[in-house]
Amino acid sequence: MVIFMKENTPKTEIESIKCKLELLHCKVHVSKGENSFILGLTGDKSEINTMEIQCNKNVEKILSVKEPFKLANKVFHPECTNIQVGHSSIGGKQIAIMAGPCSVENKEQIMTIAEDVKKAGATFLRGGAYKPRTSPYSFQGLKEDGLELLKLAKEKTGLPIVTEVMSANLIEKVSQVADVLQIGARNMQNFDLLKEVGKANKPVLLKRGLSATIEEFLMSAEYVMSEGNENVILCERGIRTFETYTRNTLDLSVIPAIKRLSHLPVIVDPSHAAGICWMVEPLSKAAIAAGADGLIIEVHNNPENAKCDGEQSIKPEKFNELVKSLSEIAKINGRAI
Ligand code: PEP
Ligand code: MN
Repeated sequence: MVIFMKENTPKTEIESIKCKLELLHCKVHVSKGENSFILGLTGDKSEINTMEIQCNKNVEKILSVKEPFKLANKVFHPECTNIQVGHSSIGGKQIAIMAGPCSVENKEQIMTIAEDVKKAGATFLRGGAYKPRTSPYSFQGLKEDGLELLKLAKEKTGLPIVTEVMSANLIEKVSQVADVLQIGARNMQNFDLLKEVGKANKPVLLKRGLSATIEEFLMSAEYVMSEGNENVILCERGIRTFETYTRNTLDLSVIPAIKRLSHLPVIVDPSHAAGICWMVEPLSKAAIAAGADGLIIEVHNNPENAKCDGEQSIKPEKFNELVKSLSEIAKINGRAI
């Protein structure tokens, strides 16, 4: 349920309605609409008397939200969410560019790539220290040592760090270095993990599950938000289809769909979607043209010998060219790179 207050309703009046509703055991989320305040209600609404609220002279109208996602719903929060992380942001005018290797491999590798992507215009450094691999025999990441190296790269470049957290017991450790906690596609419906990152005070980059519907994707965001962390970034990274030419199929339609349904920022990972390095450029361009708030791209200085996802990683020189070419497309949408 959403209560739209009349324009110029005094703040004290909003507070008073909020308190009354909270006494009836529901949660009230206050946000700013176009001209006035909006009260979004979640939880137990059984004791609420809608007629009584409707009669309040400061109430414009009441709407019931039919979608199962509430906090992530655009009706609850009509303004787009802009997440500020240091000097970078996701969801505002500026397009977020996250770039770096699939996994941190050694000091020289991460430092070189970090400096190269920063020079090219990246606003975040990505890099996995804990890697979710399909095979238990594949490289699993440098773990704690990887986090230490990410910390050094951040000190050197000033770029905020995006890195994956695979289990709840690692959130505290990973948060010491990460500026954004990545939840991998395979964990999109690990509800216990979602609830725990919902208690963390770091933005969460939530990757779409391999076969998740848009509603399931938004419900996973709702899990995080319902624990208090409303800084969720949705990331389309390709889904499973019958096609085998590409690693996954990039679902561009998710961008306008999420823009219509939710206020949360949505970014695209063309690298995992395609699985092929030469496809990263056209898919990145398409994503920005379709209105994505950012990109997360795998960049490696020696892709042929990368420990993970080399075939889909682009070289720093290519990344540099790509960022330049994206800026024209961003402008058409009134955005900037
Ligand atoms: C990654 O970002 O390296 C990764 C493992 O992504 P995903 O969870 O989308 O497969
Ligand atoms: Mn990868």
